[in-house]
Amino acid sequence: MPEISIVAPVYNQHAMTLAELVRRLVTSLSKITDDFEILLVDDGSANDAWLTINDLARANPRVTGLHLARNFGQHVAISAGLDHAEGKWVVVMDADLQDRPEVIPDLYAKAQEGYDVVFVNRANRPERWLYRVFAAAFYLLLNALSGEDYNRLQGNFSIVSANAVRAFRRLREPGRFYGGILRWVGFRHTSIVAEHAPAGQGQSSYTLVKRVRFAITLIVSFSTRLLYVSIVLGLLMALASFVMAIQIVIEKLVNPSYPLQGWPSVMTAIFFAAGVTNVGIGFAAIYVGRILEQTRGRPLYIVAETTSRSELTA
Ligand code: UDP
Ligand code: MG
Repeated sequence: MPEISIVAPVYNQHAMTLAELVRRLVTSLSKITDDFEILLVDDGSANDAWLTINDLARANPRVTGLHLARNFGQHVAISAGLDHAEGKWVVVMDADLQDRPEVIPDLYAKAQEGYDVVFVNRANRPERWLYRVFAAAFYLLLNALSGEDYNRLQGNFSIVSANAVRAFRRLREPGRFYGGILRWVGFRHTSIVAEHAPAGQGQSSYTLVKRVRFAITLIVSFSTRLLYVSIVLGLLMALASFVMAIQIVIEKLVNPSYPLQGWPSVMTAIFFAAGVTNVGIGFAAIYVGRILEQTRGRPLYIVAETTSRSELTA
């Protein structure tokens, strides 16, 4: 059992980035122990990342590569890595060097104080301001809808004890969010603060569509509050229409020649009612879709091949 396993999902990372990642990881980890493993999970990269990982694994027996059969998404790739990590401690980090390998000794030291999960809070956000505004708004919405207090300074950079990893593995739900699952699992959590490096040559491997899809997963897979939103909206509308009806009756009684503005008001009411109803049905449909995904019971990911470690199957 190695002392530390590193799990890094890799999607279209350049050869130079990966080589530097391994080099800096080895330097950083050597300060803690010589007994470590580096698991690079190729999340169906479209470039030559898998060839690079093979080269790295050949050059260094501590490096192991896991090749997923297609692009399953960062959080599934992390789960695949966690399924195969054997360390007493597992560090999860991005492969693009934004999560700096030099921080790992601090993470490890903090964990030794008696914690099972230590996250890194980013001291700085190197993203563009527009991104930061959207992120801040999204986290407000997410926390309101999920009833949690997710910290927008936290990514996935963290260290987790073997106990917590074992618990993590038992949650196989398809709507995956690394931080959310860890939170549900429990154990002793804490965080440290560290610098986050700006994105290097390649920009983000996330597209807007991918980010929005993940945002929906965050809201829908970890809370049912969205369903209650439509109940509240429906109640408010019913109340409003009741008040409006009373108003019409009173007007008619007070002033028998009161002209009712029929067409515009009725159309407005119908559109409003139909809109809100459809939104409500849509919320429910999202959850039904998730139930379908869950009942199919498919595996989370498919491993196409691995670099060496013979026991790596699944
Ligand atoms: N990633 C992945 N699968 C994907 C998209 C991203 O495994 O479909 C990995 C990527 O290789 C990187 C990490 O997830 O290690 C974070 O991705 P990125 O740097 O693009 O995200 P950002 O820093 O922009 O949030
Ligand atoms: Mg990045």
